[in-house]
Amino acid sequence: MTTAILTIDQGTTSSRAIIFDENFKPAFAAQQEYQQYYPARGWVEHDPEDIWETTVSVCQEALAAAREKGLKVVGIGLVNQRETTLVWEKKTGKPVYNAIVWQDRRTANACKALQQYEPWITEKTGLRMDPYFSATKIKWILDNVSGARGRAARGELAFGTVDSFLIWRLTGGKTHVTDTTNASRTNLFNLSTLQWDEELLALFNIPAAMMPEIRHCADDFGLTEQHILSESLPICGVAGDQQAALIGQGCFNKGETKTTFGTGSFALVNTGDRLTYSSHNLLTTVAYTLKEQTCYAIEGSIFVAGAAVQWLRDSMGMLSNAAESEAIASSVADDHGLVLVPAFTGLGAPYWSPQARGAIYGLTRSSTSAHVVRATLESVAYQTQDLVNSIKSDNIPVTCMKVDGGMVQNSWLCQYLADTLNVTVVRPEVMETTALGAAFLAGLQLGMRENLHDFATLNPTEAQFTSRIDETLRTQRKNRWNAAVQATLLMAKAEA
Ligand code: ADP
Repeated sequence: MTTAILTIDQGTTSSRAIIFDENFKPAFAAQQEYQQYYPARGWVEHDPEDIWETTVSVCQEALAAAREKGLKVVGIGLVNQRETTLVWEKKTGKPVYNAIVWQDRRTANACKALQQYEPWITEKTGLRMDPYFSATKIKWILDNVSGARGRAARGELAFGTVDSFLIWRLTGGKTHVTDTTNASRTNLFNLSTLQWDEELLALFNIPAAMMPEIRHCADDFGLTEQHILSESLPICGVAGDQQAALIGQGCFNKGETKTTFGTGSFALVNTGDRLTYSSHNLLTTVAYTLKEQTCYAIEGSIFVAGAAVQWLRDSMGMLSNAAESEAIASSVADDHGLVLVPAFTGLGAPYWSPQARGAIYGLTRSSTSAHVVRATLESVAYQTQDLVNSIKSDNIPVTCMKVDGGMVQNSWLCQYLADTLNVTVVRPEVMETTALGAAFLAGLQLGMRENLHDFATLNPTEAQFTSRIDETLRTQRKNRWNAAVQATLLMAKAEA
C-alpha cells in the first residue's frame, strides 16, 4: 500500500476533500456545495452545521475511495476560508450563532467608530480597520446574541475561524487550536510576537479565554475521533486558503507572486522573513510559519471575483453554469463600451470602501447579456490590475503571475488577465493549489519530504498566457475602469 494524504478544503461555496498520493498528485476529489444565507443587506452567513456535515461527508467519500484504490491515508491537511467567524459552546460544540462570513459588512459602522486606531492596528496586525476581519464579527456576536457576553467572560464559549471549529469537532473537542496564517486574519494577532495581542483583545472587548491556541502551519493539531471518519488520523498541516495557495504554487522565495481566483480574488507576494508593510493599501500577513522559519506576505484582497459569475448565474439567470461564461464572453467581439464594477459587498484593496455598491456603466439599447457576462469577467482582470499596480508601487517587481482557483479554468479570463496586466500568466497542472498547499504542509510534518523547498517542483506549469494587445488599448481600458471606480466611490459617498 502506498501512502496518501487527505486534504480538507473548506471553501466559501463548497467543502472539498482531496486525496493526494505520495507524489502529491490528486488521486480523488469529492465536493459538496452548501447554502449561502443573506439575512440582510450586506450580510452573509453560513450554517455551521452545513460546514460540518458537508466536510464530514466529503471526507468519508474520499477515504472510502482511497481504500478502494489501495492508498493508505496517513494524515490530514486542512485549508479553509479565512476570517469567517464562529463562536460555539465549549461544553457541547454547538454554535451560538451562524458563521459570519468574511464577505459580511454588518460591522462597517463598528469599524468606523474605531477608525482612529487604524494606524496602531495596522502596525500590530498588518491589517486594516475593516469588517472583513474577524475581530468585529466576534464582538458583534457577543453583543447581539442573548447572554453571549457573560458566557464568554465565564470561559464557556470558544471562538474560532473555520479551521479551528472543524479541528475542535474532528477531535471531539480535545483541541482548541488554530494556525498562524488563520490567526493573522483576525485583527487580534501580533505579527511580531506571533501571539494574540492583549491590547487588541481589550480594544475589541474579547475575552482571552475564547481564543484558540496558536500553532505553526506544519504541526500537531490533534487526532480525529475514530467514529467520525471511521479512522483516527493526525491533523498535521493547516493554513488559510490564500496562504495555502501560495505554498501549493511553490512560492517559497522572496518576490514570488500568486493570485487565486475563487469567490473572491487574492494576490499574495512572498516578502521573506522580515515584516514588510505596504504604502499602497495592501495588507501584511503571515505567509506561513514552521518551527524554524517565519515567512510574511503582502496581500491584495478583492471581495468579488467568481462571486460575480455566481450572481450572473443565480440572480440574473444569464448563465446556467459558471463555465458557460467562457463561450459567452468569446462570442462578442468587444465589451461594447460596458464597464461593470462588482462592488456587491464594497470594494477591497486598494480602495477599501465598505459602503461602495456595484454598477454597470455604458448601457445602450444594443447591450446584451453577453456583454454583461464579458464585462463581469473583465472586471476581475481590472481589479487584479489595481492590486498589481499597488504591489509595483511598493517597489516589488511583478513579472510573472501564478494563477489558480475555480475561475482560471476559464482560458478566456487568463488571456484577458495577461492582456490587462502585461505580465506572463502561469497556470499550473494542479489547479487545486490551496488543497495542495495543505497537503505539502501535512507531508512536511509527516516527514515525507525534508524541507518545504523540496515541494517546489511538484506542481509544474500547464499553460502560459502573454499579452496580445498593445499599450494604447491597455491604457484606454484602464482609464475607463478607473473612471467607473471613481464614479462608484462618489455614489457611495452620496449615500453615506
Ligand atoms: P471558493 O474556494 O472560494 O469556493 P473556487 O476556487 O471553487 O472558490 O471557485 C469557484 C468560483 O469560481 C465560483 O464563484 C464560480 O462562479 C467561479 N467559476 C468556476 N468555474 C468558472 C469558469 N469556468 N469561468 C468563470 N468562473 C468560474
